[in-house]
Amino acid sequence: MSIFRRSRGAARSRPGDRTSIASTIGAGQIVAAVAGLVIASVVLLAYQFVSLRNASTNEARVQAGIIADNVTASLMFGDREAAADMLRPLHFATDLMSATVYDSAGQRFVSYVPGGQAQPVQDLAGTIRVEAPVDYRGRKIGRVELTMKMTSLRVGLLRYAVFLALTIAGALAIVMPIVRRTRSRVARAERELDYLAYTDPVTALPNRRATYLRLEHELALPDARLALLLLDLDNFKVVNDTLGHSAGDELLRKVAAALRDAVGDAGVVGRIGGDEFAIILAPLARRGAALEVAEAVAASLRVPFPLEQGEVFASASIGMCVYPDDVAGSTELLSSADTALYAAKNGGRNRVVDFRPEMTFATQRRARLERELRKALEAQALCVYYQPQFDCSGRQIIGVEALVRWPHPEHGFVSPAEFIPIAEETGMIVELGRWVLQRACHDVAGWLRAGMPELSLAVNVSARQLREPGFIDDVTRALADSALPAEILELELTESLLMENVDAAIEFMQQIRAAGIRLSIDDFGTGYSSLSYLQSFPINQLKIDRSFVQLLPQQGETIARAIISLGRGFGLTVLAEGVEDQAQLEWLRAAGCDYVQGFLLGKPMPAADILARFAADSRSSAAA
Ligand code: C2E
Ligand code: CA
Ligand code: CA
Repeated sequence: MSIFRRSRGAARSRPGDRTSIASTIGAGQIVAAVAGLVIASVVLLAYQFVSLRNASTNEARVQAGIIADNVTASLMFGDREAAADMLRPLHFATDLMSATVYDSAGQRFVSYVPGGQAQPVQDLAGTIRVEAPVDYRGRKIGRVELTMKMTSLRVGLLRYAVFLALTIAGALAIVMPIVRRTRSRVARAERELDYLAYTDPVTALPNRRATYLRLEHELALPDARLALLLLDLDNFKVVNDTLGHSAGDELLRKVAAALRDAVGDAGVVGRIGGDEFAIILAPLARRGAALEVAEAVAASLRVPFPLEQGEVFASASIGMCVYPDDVAGSTELLSSADTALYAAKNGGRNRVVDFRPEMTFATQRRARLERELRKALEAQALCVYYQPQFDCSGRQIIGVEALVRWPHPEHGFVSPAEFIPIAEETGMIVELGRWVLQRACHDVAGWLRAGMPELSLAVNVSARQLREPGFIDDVTRALADSALPAEILELELTESLLMENVDAAIEFMQQIRAAGIRLSIDDFGTGYSSLSYLQSFPINQLKIDRSFVQLLPQQGETIARAIISLGRGFGLTVLAEGVEDQAQLEWLRAAGCDYVQGFLLGKPMPAADILARFAADSRSSAAA
């Protein structure tokens, strides 16, 4: 499988191309080896030439010496004929060109030429010329000169060269098949290494490295236009944790196959992390086409996947970014697709989100808030406001809801609607919630000591806090530390939180109730509690969500009335939140709602203001 399948023009090679080892084995090395052998052969031939030439020269010297001895007498007596006879046996000397005897005056005395004809003297390199003096009793009476051809030397040299060539050829004949076999083995090993280095072993998809290389490759093509989809499975962790890793792997394989089918020829799919996949759609003609593929991909995962242990659902969150429409480079492309993915997860998962530039600002702000919130929490820079809750006459404070506040040095008060979700996601909510609980318990205990009549203190609790094993201990410790009676405290839970795991929620609620603490359901009507569950929840109060109250009195009456009678039926009190005008209050009182809370009667305020407000209320009721 090649992830670099698509190419335009010369861009076929893999990015970051490295030469394969196999390709370097073979031709080059054989050429080098042959060159080495040839050089060695030339050296050997030269050596051989020199040795043969020396041997021939020595042989000629010996011959010249013998002739010199034999012609001594003839030279002394000036007997040319006898000298010529002495030279005659030289016709056996194959390489001889001429033999000449000179007298003491340097005059030619006698000479012998094979065949009787003088041959033209060849170039110096082609002949050997030697001399031997003719001595008589220590006196030089002449000299003998022999000129030899080098024919036998050449033949010998040629034979030697042929022998060397045959040796080289033989060596090559042995080596070539070995080289060829090694080359194919190395090539195979390289292919296997390549596969391992670029392939995810579980899904057989291109791995992170391969996917990013492919992305770089696509971006480097002329007129590149592509969409990057980052995909994160929504429930993979649950499958892995509850059904085990082999089920997790099986799911990943099935998901990979589904993704490949959904993407088809439009692009490539890679696995870039545990449950993260990347899809590169290139070349891309229209943005719409990328969105269509993304939606098809999302749809292909919205089906149950049959695993050995049973069926599981694996929806995915998908972030999409288009180059060069949205971003200028690969780093930005990845981070923007990631931002879009984050938005998809935050927007409730199981969806495709197309990147928009505003998201970057939102992500940056979020990241900054996260950092600053952590610091604020450490520095105890948060504070708690209290919103009073009234009976339906609107005159009597019956309790307060603790609402956390973050006075930010630059942005003023940051809304809990913005920072509570950050705290929940990062887990900071556990510490934050614990702190709010302690602060609120202390404040209210202080009010009671200051003479305020008993009221209830409602504290909001997040899902994440409930999952914390030590949560109930935190609550009882806050009560004990502040010496606040348990029946003052009321915890506000949301429906969705309780429905996440009904059995665990019921058990938890029973423990809370056993500690004497009351429970109310916040934002009632916006979640999806089924009435049958409501019956089994050990709760004390329902809070009608502000969105219903706001519609009153003209609209929303049916729902508000239904919630009030539901509360009645289950023996629960009902509190309406977000009451902003008198007409709403009138309607709620007439409908039999127990308590109200809202800007009409009191906004969230600092602890000191609550005390002042209470003092003013008790003065006015005393005056009345
Ligand atoms: P919530 O629990 O539903 O709190 C009520 C919200 O409605 C508060 O917003 C309050 O200021 C606002 N509100 C009260 N009366 C009115 C009204 O008449 N009109 C309008 N328009 N708004 C009204 P706030 O304080 O911004 O809190 C927002 C949310 O943040 C809360 O919603 C709650 O879910 C969360 N929250 C606040 N404090 C904490 C906390 O200490 N712990 C946790 N876990 N969540 C908190
Ligand atoms: Ca609340
Ligand atoms: Ca609420």
